[in-house]
This record gives sequence, C-alpha cells and structure tokens, in this order.
Amino acid sequence: MSIKFCSQCGSTMEQKIPEDDDHIRAVCGLCDHVHYENPKMVVGTIPVSGNKILMCRRNIEPRKGKWTLPAGYLENRESVQDGAVRETLEETRARVKLLGPYRMFNILFVDQIYLMFRAELLTNDFGPTSESTEVCLFSEDEIPWDEIAFEVIRQTLVDFFRDRGSNNGQGANNGAFPFDIKDLIFKPPKENS
Ligand SMILES: [Zn+2]
Repeated sequence: MSIKFCSQCGSTMEQKIPEDDDHIRAVCGLCDHVHYENPKMVVGTIPVSGNKILMCRRNIEPRKGKWTLPAGYLENRESVQDGAVRETLEETRARVKLLGPYRMFNILFVDQIYLMFRAELLTNDFGPTSESTEVCLFSEDEIPWDEIAFEVIRQTLVDFFRDRGSNNGQGANNGAFPFDIKDLIFKPPKENS
C-alpha cells in the first residue's frame, strides 16, 4: 500500500506516472516529490545440525502457529549475511555459521525477495523467543510438512533435502547444494490468512 501524504511537504500524494518514467508512482500533487517503493529483502537460514535442521513455530502474524525457517527483513546498512545470522539468533536463540547462499526467490505478488543460506548450528543452545513459541530440530521425516508457514519455506526445504539425498547424505560439501534463483509468481490460496 502506497503512502497517502508527502514526506516532504505533507500534501496529498497522487498515483501517476512521472515524466520520463514508466511506472505508476506516488507523486506529490503540490511539490512533485516522487515516493519510490521497492521490494523488501528477506534473509534467513537453514540451520543444520547433523541430519537435522532447526525450525521455529511462529508467534507472530501472518501464519501464527505455523512452522518456518528463521528469516526476516534485512535492515538498512546491514549485509545479507549479517541479517541472516541476526534473524536466526532473534527467532531461535541459535548461533550459526553460514555455509553458503542456497536459494533466492522472487516473490513478486508481495514485492519480496527471499535469500536463504545454508548454515551450521554452532551450539545446541536454542529455544523459544518472543517471535517463536517452539524451536525444534527435525529430521526430514519429522518435519511438520502440513504446517509449513510459507510456500517459499516449503520449496526451500524440499530442494534442500533433495540435494542432500542426491549426495548420499554427505551434506557438508558446498558443491552438492548449488545456488539457484526461483520465482513464486502467484499467491497460493492457503496463504490468504
Ligand atoms: Zn510534497
């Protein structure tokens, strides 16, 4: 949703295509200030410990009560690597070491870009936080597949376990988990809530 009032002069914004532009923008009717809106970046991790991965049950909307991987919005002046480590700490209390970028998703219907890293859990000190009611290690067959919060997380997990399986479980080799960029181009009905 676009802003209603100009951040420069407080006048009402209009939706129009500025001169020499090709997108509809919020433009101030008085001072012509243009408010640019760009996709938000979400960064997160697949924290791995042995044959298990760390997941958290969301304590915040949307999809409260569903399971996810630790991920959240990148802050200004923060690298994607630092953001992924920070979000993992905030949502699971776990400290991780990044192993490499694994999946990027263009989620155009919500103007988000996801970047998920593979990561190694550095200690077994993890647990609930204000953002997660439960934090658990799951093997592939223990994952609550029917209660995954977001399609982007489900696809990341499916790809991860497929890549790990194709490497006969010898998952520490970076080359066995090739980086890929994927598109999510529609909003699945189950994410309406
Ligand atoms: Zn203005």
